Amino acid sequence: MRTTRRGFVRAAGAGVVGASLAPRLARGQGPAVSTGRSFDVAVVGAGAFGAWTAWHLRRAGRSVALIDAYGPGNARASSGGQTRVIRMGYGDQEVYTRWSLRSLALWRELLAKAGYPERLQISGVLWMARERDPLTTRTLETLTRLGVRHERLERAALQARWPQIELGPLTWAIHEPESGFLEAFAAVQAVAEQAIGAGVAYRQAKVLPLLDKGPLGALRTADGESVSAGTYVLACGPWLPKLCPGVLGNRIFPTRQEVFYFGVPAGDRRFASSSLPVWVDFAEEIYGIPDFKGRGFKVAPDRHGPLVDPDSLERVASPDTLARVREFVARRFPAMKDAPLVASEVCQYENTSNGDFLIDRHPALPNVWLVGGGSGHGFKHGPAVGEYVAARVADGAAVDAKFSLATKQPVQDRQVF
Ligand SMILES: Cc1cc2nc3c(=O)[nH]c(=O)nc-3n(C[C@H](O)[C@H](O)[C@H](O)COP(=O)(O)OP(=O)(O)OC[C@H]3O[C@@H](n4cnc5c(N)ncnc54)[C@H](O)[C@@H]3O)c2cc1C
Repeated sequence: MRTTRRGFVRAAGAGVVGASLAPRLARGQGPAVSTGRSFDVAVVGAGAFGAWTAWHLRRAGRSVALIDAYGPGNARASSGGQTRVIRMGYGDQEVYTRWSLRSLALWRELLAKAGYPERLQISGVLWMARERDPLTTRTLETLTRLGVRHERLERAALQARWPQIELGPLTWAIHEPESGFLEAFAAVQAVAEQAIGAGVAYRQAKVLPLLDKGPLGALRTADGESVSAGTYVLACGPWLPKLCPGVLGNRIFPTRQEVFYFGVPAGDRRFASSSLPVWVDFAEEIYGIPDFKGRGFKVAPDRHGPLVDPDSLERVASPDTLARVREFVARRFPAMKDAPLVASEVCQYENTSNGDFLIDRHPALPNVWLVGGGSGHGFKHGPAVGEYVAARVADGAAVDAKFSLATKQPVQDRQVF
C-alpha cells in the first residue's frame, strides 16, 4: 500500500483507499486512480447519504472520489451510532414510505453481498398508539394504500403477544413485521467498502469551506491539497453549515440527542431482538431498539435538544435526560426498572426546518449539490437518497420541491416524524 501525492492511499495494485479504514475496507479492489486526475464526481462525507451516493454513482459508471474528515461511520457522524431504525410508517408522508421500502431492498442486497447480512435485523417495528392518534392513524392508511405488510393489534392482542410491555394508556398499535433496525456505523462502513471495492477512490481529509462563487473548480483540503471533479456532492450531515455558511448557516439545525443502553437481567430473553420488536411511542417522543448482541436495551428520546457543534460536542449524556428515560422505562417495561445503564451515546440530528431532506444544487455554484438534512430519520433512506442524487446528477432534472433549498426555512417547525 502506498500514499499518492494527493494523499489518496493506493491498495496493492488496485483502487485508492483510506489507510485508516478497517482492513476489509482497505482491501478495496478497483481501477487505479492516477494522482493528477479529475474525477467525474467528488462526494464529501461518507455517512449514510454520501457513501450510498458514491456507490450509486460508481455503479452508473462515474469516476468518483469519496472524502471524509473522520472516516465512514465515525463516532461524531450522525451515521456513527450503534443502531438505527428502519420503518415504513411515516404518517401521510408517502414519499418516505416508498423510499424506506426501496432502501430496505438495497440495504438487504448490499449487506448480503458484502458478507454482513446480520447488519440488517428484521425484528419488526411496533407503533404504539392511544385511542385518538392522528399520526398512527395516517400511518395505517398509508401502509394499507401502498400494500406494505402490517397488522393492527388491539390492546388484548398486544398484551398477549408482548406481556413484557406495560401498556398504560396505549390501546392499539401497528406492527410492521418486515421492518427492524440496522447496525448503523458498521452498515455504513460496509457501503463504503463496497463502493471502494467497485473503484471509488477514498481519501480521509477535511475539506475547507466553499466560497459562494462559482462554478467550483476544485475542493481544497485542510492539508493544502486539492481535489477536482466535474460535479461535487456535499453530503456532510450536521457539518453542512460549516461547509456552506452563507447558504446553510441558518437552514440546518444540528441538535444534541442522547441514547441510553440498559443492561437486561442475566439470562432474560424478553428484551432481546428475537422476542421484542423495535417500538415507537411518538406521543411521548421516545423509541427503543431491543437488545442485540448483548449491547443493551436501547431507549432514546426523539425530542430535539439544544444546538451543538459536531466537531467539539462533548459526548457525555446528561443526568436529567437519563432520569426522564428511566422513569419511562420503569412505567412501560417494569421488569427493566432497576436495569443498570451499560452505555450511552450523544449524537446530533441535522434537522431542516420541517424534517424534509435537503437535496438541491447550491444556488451560486451550479456544479455543487447539497445533500443532507436527515433530521433524525435519514439513516434508513441512505440507499434511496443516493439513488435519487445519482439520477439527478446524470439527468440534470429539477428536484422535487419537497427536497429543495427554497422550502428550507430559518425557523424550525417539524412536520416529518
Ligand atoms: C441519536 C440518533 C438517532 C437516530 N435514529 C435514526 C433512526 O432510528 N433511523 C433513521 O433512519 N435515522 C436515524 N437518525 C438520523 C440518521 O442517523 C441521520 O439522518 C443520517 O445518519 C445522516 O447521514 P449523513 O450522511 O447525512 O450525515 P453523517 O452521517 O453525519 O455524515 C457526514 C460525514 O461528513 C463528514 N464531514 C463533515 N465535514 C467534512 C469536511 N469538512 N470534509 C470532509 N468530510 C466531512 C463527517 O466526518 C461525516 O462522516 C438518528 C440520528 C441520531 C443522531
